[in-house]
Amino acid sequence: MQSGRHAEVSAQDDQGHRAVSGDCHGDHSSPSGSDRFERVRRAMIAFRDAREWKQFHDPKNLAEGLSLEAAELLEVFQWKTTDEARALTGDSAARAKVAEEVADCFLYCVLVADAFGLDLIDAAQRKLAANEMKYPLDKSRGRRDKYDAL
Ligand SMILES: [Mg+2]
Repeated sequence: MQSGRHAEVSAQDDQGHRAVSGDCHGDHSSPSGSDRFERVRRAMIAFRDAREWKQFHDPKNLAEGLSLEAAELLEVFQWKTTDEARALTGDSAARAKVAEEVADCFLYCVLVADAFGLDLIDAAQRKLAANEMKYPLDKSRGRRDKYDAL
């Protein structure tokens, strides 16, 4: 394991919350989505800081880490046909591996956002709103063209 590379969450945040708690589907006593995000974000920062890894987390290293984790996700599908890749959604081992890699990507996004003082949820909402403008329903429904070709 490279120092500072792995972004596993096993820590508790500064309020003693576990980083990743149980599933909240249909359970209204569980934290809201924004609370769950904030708990994970704080746990990731606590995990990093407890290990004194921030010194390694310059923006370039974080972007490299994110790209490497995205490549690990892509590796799941290497040499698979499109149909074979689709079939993996029902494969428990593939689902576990994908869960691990998307979590790594997500956690790196948390760290990149932290490095730039960004609110990741706000940034995502803004990007989604921008995409709504770039891909209006009447022009993009059922089409795979890039926005400038609609
Ligand atoms: Mg990984």
